[in-house]
Amino acid sequence: MENNKNKNTNPKEAVTNKNVSNMKQPYNRKRRYYKYRRPYKPTVNISFKKLSIIIPLIDEEESIKPLVSAIHRSLLNKRIQYEIIFIDDGSKDNSLKIIKELNTQNKNIKYFSFQKNYGKSAALQVGFINATGHAIITMDADLQDDPAEILNLLKKLDEGYDLVSGWKKKRQDPFIKKISSRFFNFITRILTGIKIHDFNCGLKAYRNDVVKNIRVYGELHRYVPVLARWQGYKVSEIVVKHHPRRYGKTKFGISRFFKGFIDLITVLFATRYIKRPMHFFGFLGAFAFFIGIIVNGYLTYQWIIGIPLSNRPMLFLGILLIIVGVQFFSIGLLGEILVHNSMDEKEYLIKDKG
Ligand code: UDP
Ligand code: MG
Repeated sequence: MENNKNKNTNPKEAVTNKNVSNMKQPYNRKRRYYKYRRPYKPTVNISFKKLSIIIPLIDEEESIKPLVSAIHRSLLNKRIQYEIIFIDDGSKDNSLKIIKELNTQNKNIKYFSFQKNYGKSAALQVGFINATGHAIITMDADLQDDPAEILNLLKKLDEGYDLVSGWKKKRQDPFIKKISSRFFNFITRILTGIKIHDFNCGLKAYRNDVVKNIRVYGELHRYVPVLARWQGYKVSEIVVKHHPRRYGKTKFGISRFFKGFIDLITVLFATRYIKRPMHFFGFLGAFAFFIGIIVNGYLTYQWIIGIPLSNRPMLFLGILLIIVGVQFFSIGLLGEILVHNSMDEKEYLIKDKG
């Protein structure tokens, strides 16, 4: 009677009892004990307690939510406090609406929205200014960068580097992009002496100090490691996973190939001479001027001893060198004046923030 009652009121227990009676008791108990325990996973030991993840984006509405979930997953139970900062670089689709929605659900998801499209460099710079973490991660919004790499970047950063860049060794992009990027990386490596393979990887980790002390503007986001290195920071890299673009299309068209080279010249000039233009233009100017004076001095001497100047084409070379020299020198001087009176940070008009 009592047995029947048990069966009716608690069928689950009855089934369990039945199973247990079919097996050897002590062994089974032990297995059940282990079976229902969570496997032991050591938490990562990194010294950065707070992390800022900066994500510049334009028109990436489909990718935002999957990206945020993937970031949450990759940092779950890792004892790291983190904020996600979206910089909406003038999206025309629903990106901003989605970000605002995420922001109301979770205050650690912040955003800045530009009035218009200022470019990826401007977006990164605004993120850098507003990041509060001890370490900063930048990543693209298009799901090409894998959030699972965040911890690997941080571990490398913790080895004593100031900037760790991702290296998309197996790059999932069109062939032409892969080839041109290889070429630019090769040239940049030679000209700057920085031994990394992928200067323009969107996925990077920085110490807070670095992002507060570099200024990314124009199209210089491609050369952030160069800017950091020239400020004296230690730069390294790790290989990261790269995925093909899942939604939408690339925001950088064919113009990237032409801009790439100009940017390299800019960055070389910017990192070496921007604060001392006279060293560049002054040197060139003085050199040209000096050669011009020698050439024309020699001709003057010959004129004095009786050789006429009427059929001496070298005279034009001398004059040209002197004029060019004076012009370069003047540009250098103007540059120096600009540096001394330089205006403060370029202002970006922020439409909205949260
Ligand atoms: N992006 C941006 N402003 C721009 C162009 C791009 O914020 O003017 C963002 C873009 O939304 C993406 C990241 O920068 O999150 C990288 O862009 P994309 O994926 O188009 O570059 P690719 O992977 O083709 O080099
Ligand atoms: Mg991309």
